[in-house]
Amino acid sequence: MSIQIQNVSKRFGTFQALQDISIDIQSGELIALLGPSGSGKTSLLRVIAGLETSDVGEIFFDGQSITNHHPKERNVGFVFQHYALFRHMTVFENVAYGLRVRPRKTRPSKAEIEAKVMELLRLVKLENFADRYPTQLSGGQRQRVALARALAVEPKVLLLDEPFGALDAKVRKELRRWLRKLHDDFHITSIFVTHDQEEALDVADRIVVMNNGKIEQIGSPDEVYTHPNSPFVYDFLGNVNLFKGRLHNGKLTHGEFAIDVPDSHAHTQDDAVGYVRPHDTQIEKTAVTGTVPVTVSHIHLLGPIVQIELRREDMDEFLEAELSKEHFHVLQLNVGDHVFVRPKQLKVFIPEDFSI
Ligand code: ATP
Repeated sequence: MSIQIQNVSKRFGTFQALQDISIDIQSGELIALLGPSGSGKTSLLRVIAGLETSDVGEIFFDGQSITNHHPKERNVGFVFQHYALFRHMTVFENVAYGLRVRPRKTRPSKAEIEAKVMELLRLVKLENFADRYPTQLSGGQRQRVALARALAVEPKVLLLDEPFGALDAKVRKELRRWLRKLHDDFHITSIFVTHDQEEALDVADRIVVMNNGKIEQIGSPDEVYTHPNSPFVYDFLGNVNLFKGRLHNGKLTHGEFAIDVPDSHAHTQDDAVGYVRPHDTQIEKTAVTGTVPVTVSHIHLLGPIVQIELRREDMDEFLEAELSKEHFHVLQLNVGDHVFVRPKQLKVFIPEDFSI
C-alpha cells in the first residue's frame, strides 16, 4: 500500500505541531520518522492512523483519500512503546484478539484463528509462551507479542511509535532485526517513530528527519548521514567537526588556515561554518594548504575503526577523525603528536541556513 501525505498541518491551540508535511511513501517501504522530542513525530503518526485529524492537508492510501476515514477503516496495525497488551489475556489471546472481534461475516473459524496465531508466534519465536500472561514476559518478549498481534489482522500499513524505546540497547538491536524481517515477510508498508539515530540508520529504507513540526530532510540512511542538507541534520545524525570562519574568494578562512569551498559559495562573503563527518576528516603528517594544525589528544581503538580525538592548536576546540585500523598503523600516531587535519567533503552553511 503506498501512502501519500500532502501538505498536512496541525495545531494544538496556538502551537503549530505539524507544518506543511508532504511525504510520498512507496508500497513496501520501511520509513523512520526521526527527530528530537517534541518535533511532531507522534502527532504525524497519529494523523496517519486517524487518531488525530489534521487541520489542513490530505492523506492517500494507494491513491484513495482516507483523510476522513475512521481509524478502523484504514486497515493499519499499531505497536506502541508501552506494550499495550491486555494484561488479563494470555499471549495467545492477545494475538488472537483482533481476529476474534471481527464482524461475524469476516471472522475466521476457531481452527483458522488457532493456526494463524500459532504461525505468528512461531515467527516471533514465542510458540512456547502461548499460555503465559504479559507480566510473565520480558520487555522484549512483550514487544514481540505486540508485533505479532498487530500483524494478525493482516494490516496493509504498520505504524510503530517508539516501539523499542523502553528496552535496553541489546534487546532493541535484536528487535529491530525482527521488525525488518517481519516487515519484509509480510510485504507491508511500515512507518516507525524513533529519536534514536542509530536505530533509524540501521533498519529504515528512508528516514524522514523532523524538527519543530517540519521536515528537515528525507532520504536513504546514506543520504541523510553522508549528505545532510542542514546543520540540524548534521548534528542530529552523528558526530561532526565544525570549522568556523569567513567565506572569502572561494575559501573558508580562519587565522592562518584557508580551505577551498564548493563552487556554490565561490562568491559569498559571510561568516560561515564548514561541517565534516569524522570519517571524512583526514590526518596528514605534514602541513599542506588547507590543513589545520592539531595535537593528538586521545586514541580510541574500536575494533576495525580507530577514533582519534584532536585538539586544535589555533583555538580551544576538539575535532574527531575516524580511521581504518590499517590506515592508523600506516600513520603510526601517538598521543601528543603534532599533525594536520584536512577536511574532505566540507559542507558550508551560512547564517541563513541555520534554523532557530
Ligand atoms: P516525543 O519524541 O517526545 O514523543 P514527538 O516528536 O513525538 O516527541 P509530538 O508528540 O508529536 O512530538 O508532539 C509535538 C508537539 O505537540 C509537542 O510540543 C507536544 O507538546 C504538542 N502536542 C502533542 N499532542 C498535543 C495535544 N493533544 N495537545 C496539545 N499539545 C500537544
